Amino acid sequence: MSEQTIFHKIIAGEIPCEMVYETDEVLGFNDIHPKAPTHVLFVAKREEDFVPSIMDLTDETAHVPCKLIHAAQEFAKEKGIDGYKLTFHCGAKGGQEVFYLHLHFMSQQEL
Ligand code: AMP
Repeated sequence: MSEQTIFHKIIAGEIPCEMVYETDEVLGFNDIHPKAPTHVLFVAKREEDFVPSIMDLTDETAHVPCKLIHAAQEFAKEKGIDGYKLTFHCGAKGGQEVFYLHLHFMSQQEL
């Protein structure tokens, strides 16, 4: 089994988070060190969708980033946010610190 990251623990409810979006498949929660007035992280909840990084995607998990992007788009629509940045940090040399695939959603608009 792969190593448990802090995001595994957030999804399992073992560590608290400020949840702002949830479906059966995706969780969105506020980044603990926000770099914009709205800074949300989107992660896939299902075990079969776990992938450490964009750099580890396979044919079986290639759909996961699309789920996260779609969740971010739905979240923005729900909240009336009409401009934002979406970022994946890819690998340690790309600035990735948590090896549980996540999408950064950043907007200058506040929730
Ligand atoms: P990355 O550099 O792409 O791996 O980003 C990891 C992000 O997770 C950083 O922006 C951190 O501030 C954020 N982070 C780390 N621990 C937590 C936590 N417990 N709750 C919310 N965000 C966190």
